[in-house]
Amino acid sequence: MIQAKGYAAQNVHEELKLWKFERRDVDAHDVQIEILYCGVCHTDVAQINNEWFPGLFPMIPGHEIVGRVVKVGDHVQKFKVGDLAGVGTFINSCGICEHCHSGLEVYCENGVIPTYNGVDKYQDGLPTYGGYSNTIVTKEPYALKIPAQLNLAATAPLLCAGITTYSPLKHWKVGKGHKLAVLGLGGLGHMAVKFAVALGAEVTILSTSPHKAADAKKLGAHHFVVASNPEEVEKVKNSFDFIVDTVSADHDFDFYLSFLKLDGIHICLGVPPKGLQIKNTLLTLQLGRKSIVGSAAGGIPETQEMLDFCAAHNITADIELIDIKDIHAAFDRMGKGDVKYRFVIDMATL
Ligand code: NAP
Repeated sequence: MIQAKGYAAQNVHEELKLWKFERRDVDAHDVQIEILYCGVCHTDVAQINNEWFPGLFPMIPGHEIVGRVVKVGDHVQKFKVGDLAGVGTFINSCGICEHCHSGLEVYCENGVIPTYNGVDKYQDGLPTYGGYSNTIVTKEPYALKIPAQLNLAATAPLLCAGITTYSPLKHWKVGKGHKLAVLGLGGLGHMAVKFAVALGAEVTILSTSPHKAADAKKLGAHHFVVASNPEEVEKVKNSFDFIVDTVSADHDFDFYLSFLKLDGIHICLGVPPKGLQIKNTLLTLQLGRKSIVGSAAGGIPETQEMLDFCAAHNITADIELIDIKDIHAAFDRMGKGDVKYRFVIDMATL
């Protein structure tokens, strides 16, 4: 076994602390990556607090991982020692179902294996531990090639915030002529803005934080609307083809659905604690032929496509690089919507 170290919560609600643990040895189809940077996703906070379901503890969060390959198995073809590599939200899937065959591993019919807070039933039956750690071992097909020209730390968030926003924009063919609103300007939100602008849409940021207006232009957005300002809101009612909803807290879906025009699509990416709360669902949807849809990260081929798209368009995340000892201060600030726009841990500080 490989001796590893990471920041783990030993139990729900407990602080993350240094913890020594073991990773499996590299087998013929594996790559071992020395983790250099790991992004901090709101999902990490949700999972260490059991917000969605009872977690598996000790838990090492982190699924926005970039680093350098330090060892490869005999059958590995895509990577050699010294290459940059990334790992996103999952590290295995059944590999035999229809979805896995179509490169949609994240929707694996037999259950995708999350990068942390899961058990790798297809490999060794051991718990999975995430990227707030010094090293990770994964099967070659689940590792991503990282374009060398991008800033490495700012590339880490692409492995979750990036693909989670890129994938639905591509699926629903967002582009020129579309009016799109990004609801919530955080880690996912700011990536959604960058991608939607790059794809040619007219982009409005719908935010609860007036002070973020100053960044709207810098991020490429065309408009900024404060969701609590009735005058501003009135102007954008019935106007959007799409809302990309990245809000992590409970919010009023009826209110935001009224911003969609006929045939508009509300794309739910955020996971608020109480889920989808709609008072007049059917009428709201029927009287505008509207849809509410969801989307989860993306498959491996599309994640690679997204990374290559980012290289071609010089897109990375806007980040605040932190020392791992400051992780709880980062969680607190994230809870207050006070991040510009993704914390990334410098793993050299572990
Ligand atoms: P984040 O950086 O904390 O951003 C969330 C944003 O939501 C905040 O910046 C804030 O933006 C807005 N917000 C917060 N409280 C709000 C409220 N009460 N009303 C309205 N807006 C509020 O979080 P993130 O990492 O981007 O993640 C966002 C959500 O996506 C989380 O629930 C996360 O678990 C989920 N997620 C889903 C997937 C998936 O596969 N679907 C993948 C990754 C993450 P403003 O200040 O601009 O209002």
